[in-house]
Amino acid sequence: MRTGQANYARRFLSASLIAALVIAIVAILTLVGVTGALDRFFWETRFGFDQRPVSGNFVLVDIDAKSLDELGVWPLPRRLYAELTSQLAGSGAQEIVYDVDFSSASNAEDDDLFAASLERAGNVSLAIFQQQASAEGASGEIINQPIDKFMKAAWPVVVMVPMETDSRIWRSLYGLEIGGSSEISASALLGEHNGEARGAFWLDYGIAINELQRVSLVDVLNGNAKPELFDGKKVIIGASALELRDLFSVPVFGILPGSMIQVLGAETLVQNRALTIEGETHAVMAALVIFFLLMMTKVEGWAVKTAILALSALTIEMLAFLVQKNAPVLVPTASSHLVLLCLAASVVIRELGFQKLLSRIATISRRNSERMLGIVFDDSFDAIVILRQDGYISAASKMARTLFSNKDLVGKSGRSVLPSELVDGALDVLASASHPHATPAILVVHQQDGSQRFIEYVVTRSEMIAAGRNQKRGDETQALACVTCRDVTEEREAAHRLEYLARFDPITSLLNRNGFEDELFRLTDTPHQHRLNQCLVQFTVSNLDQIIASLGFSYGDQLRKAIATRLKHHVAEETIWAAITADVFAGVFTSKQDEDRDLQFIESIQQVICDDYTINGARISVQLKFGFVHSDGSLSPEDLLRSSGNALAKVRRDARSPIVAFHPDLEVALERRRELESELFKAIARDELHIAHQPLVNMNDQSIFGAEALLRWDHRRLGRISPAEFIPIAEENGYIVELGAWAMNRAMKEAVSWPLPLKLSVNLSAVQFSRGNLVATVVEALERTRFPAERLDLEVTESLFIDESIDLLFIMEELRALGCSFSLDDFGTGYSSLGYITKYPFSKIKLDQSFVPETISRKQDIALIEAVCHITDGHDMSILVEGIESQQQAEKLTELGCQFGQGYLFGRPMSTSDFSLLLLKSELDARRRA
Ligand code: C2E
Ligand code: CA
Ligand code: CA
Repeated sequence: MRTGQANYARRFLSASLIAALVIAIVAILTLVGVTGALDRFFWETRFGFDQRPVSGNFVLVDIDAKSLDELGVWPLPRRLYAELTSQLAGSGAQEIVYDVDFSSASNAEDDDLFAASLERAGNVSLAIFQQQASAEGASGEIINQPIDKFMKAAWPVVVMVPMETDSRIWRSLYGLEIGGSSEISASALLGEHNGEARGAFWLDYGIAINELQRVSLVDVLNGNAKPELFDGKKVIIGASALELRDLFSVPVFGILPGSMIQVLGAETLVQNRALTIEGETHAVMAALVIFFLLMMTKVEGWAVKTAILALSALTIEMLAFLVQKNAPVLVPTASSHLVLLCLAASVVIRELGFQKLLSRIATISRRNSERMLGIVFDDSFDAIVILRQDGYISAASKMARTLFSNKDLVGKSGRSVLPSELVDGALDVLASASHPHATPAILVVHQQDGSQRFIEYVVTRSEMIAAGRNQKRGDETQALACVTCRDVTEEREAAHRLEYLARFDPITSLLNRNGFEDELFRLTDTPHQHRLNQCLVQFTVSNLDQIIASLGFSYGDQLRKAIATRLKHHVAEETIWAAITADVFAGVFTSKQDEDRDLQFIESIQQVICDDYTINGARISVQLKFGFVHSDGSLSPEDLLRSSGNALAKVRRDARSPIVAFHPDLEVALERRRELESELFKAIARDELHIAHQPLVNMNDQSIFGAEALLRWDHRRLGRISPAEFIPIAEENGYIVELGAWAMNRAMKEAVSWPLPLKLSVNLSAVQFSRGNLVATVVEALERTRFPAERLDLEVTESLFIDESIDLLFIMEELRALGCSFSLDDFGTGYSSLGYITKYPFSKIKLDQSFVPETISRKQDIALIEAVCHITDGHDMSILVEGIESQQQAEKLTELGCQFGQGYLFGRPMSTSDFSLLLLKSELDARRRA
């Protein structure tokens, strides 16, 4: 019995302690506004549940959007209000309240009309309100009340509404002390409040104010509203139009215009529903009593207790609702709910124990992290398989299931579903307790479609703690093997491709230069006595550029591929082939004893690959040039490549034989070429160039009619260098454009000061037509030197006709239009087609000196000279023979019909001063003869 009492006392004490703590917490929550906000939430919900109808005593004349639209002015003319008042009064309105600002005068006539209407009606009230003074204005409040004229005939009513902390309107005023006197509010006036015009009351938002009778102001004025509508009713006139900004945020209805809130106030009063707030303490007490009862009785279990507490909260809420429905009382239940909530929490904590609560939280977070790890594991980019010591799979990621094409790996024996290397690897790791550092290995998996996939895998070992069954021995551990695999097939293929590209030309599939050099090193990297004689051949398709230019790159590629195919099919056993640049192939083979035998072998290669190719239906002829070097095994790979390259460079330039063997002289020549090339660029600046003039003669009377300008280069160290040597170099590197322009300028400048206005012949290279702007260069030179264009003769060779991309005729015609003439130089040496002679505007043909042997007696020479003379006669051209050295030749040529000549017989190329002297001398001779 004793213990029972003590037990009770202890329980009571702990319950009291908890209750005190909870009350303190709730008090704090009240202070910070939590309960207030919650209460308003409950009230609003209760209002929403129980809507009561409006009384029907009130009508709102609404200054709505429609009225503003149709009347078109704001503020409305007072005349309209006068009319409205008269109409309403005439319709029997019991009370008329204007929630409209009449605090300033409009025009006197309208104001008088309105005042008169008020006077007549006798039951009109006008809005009066206070405005907060503006910040910069005087402190205190401004009173807005109707002007005196109206006040004399009407009553003032307060139309202001108080705003709560949640920025909504919950209450309305009975009245307000304004300017020293108590003024009744519109709500109180309309609601026939008899008490003091002071203080506020809580509005009953349970009244369905949205069902209030409303009629548009404009409809009343237009007579569209039935007059019976207002009979015996109390009418309020107010604005709901958005533009007029008389709108407020309210519970239940969201937003209401001020006038409707006034009517709601009136309704609240009329229906005796002016609410008061009561019962909070009762509710809290009820909650506490329930709690004490729970604590003191034998109710067991936290779940039952919290359920009872929750039920109590529901009951309190129900009661509060019933009270609010049947009496004008708002019960604030938030505090009692919070008390119950806190008490429930205390019950849970007490009964579950704090430890349990923590462990529950821990369990939840562990589950979450397990789930997350599971997702990470399953979605891992790598395929992961976990194997137990017994060889069974305990987990497998999504990727693993895809990689090993098996949907359910888990639970199966590794041997039955995984490649055996993997399982062996895993079991090895599991068997050895001290597992070495995990190293990745590669495994080949054969797919069902026959393809191979390369899998990189690594096995790691993890110890897992199995919960200790044996307390003494402690926790047992279990080893697991984690096999991480990655499909590296693509990576390996890419790496192989890179490796391949590093050594092979992808288009021809032959070795590239790199691969070829490696191969050469391998071949030459043998002890001296074992070395074999070797031959390295390089060949180029010299017209590849033209083929690509006319057919496109893909044809170029296919042609190279086709050449490579022929090489592989016909001459591959003996030769290692490579495509070392875009247009050069190279091959190395064991030398056929000597250079001549090598040459024969190369000729056989040429036979194989020179036949025409047919690519996409197009027939392609190739021009091939070969350079090769024979080695007794002593040449290094670089020497082999360089020497054969030199031979190829030689054959590229020199069209005489398509195959050239390397000779040490070639190297010397090439060296000189390189030197001249670099020196030539400096020649103009160093003033090493000058012009020599060679007389052009009329053989009939030995008179000089002009001179050919020939470039001379006297190098400071290398001495005189022939134009036959340096002009081709300049043509190859393009420098001829500058060089030619310089020669032209210098020659004209000198020729201007000759004593006689004779013709000047200047040599032009084909490159000057294709690169640079020849016409502009000529025009500029003519202008600068003031040399007459009619005296300028331009010598071009037949090589000009090769490049068909130049619009040769156009350029020549342009230059001819300036006054220049053209000569065809070196006639007979080149690509002579007589067709050219007539197609282009030549005025002279220069027959090459190779047609002028010492004695012109051979039949074919004579026939040719006669033929050319014949053509020139027929086409209004003249013929000039070059390289005449003897009187004999001159006579024979004159006899054959050649009129003009040039050669050492008439004068060697000479300086301009010497040429001027020569001219003067011959002039004198002529005069003397005359
Ligand atoms: P080319 O236009 O055929 O010039 C005539 C060459 O024949 C000159 O050689 C001249 O000295 C040489 N010659 C003249 N009469 C005789 C003779 O009776 N017997 C012999 N054996 N030779 C004679 P050169 O001056 O060495 O010029 C060589 C070539 O260089 C020229 O041949 C021309 O194609 C080129 N060349 C010279 N100057 C220029 C230039 O300013 N521009 C261009 N594009 N080429 C030039
Ligand atoms: Ca010439
Ligand atoms: Ca010539």
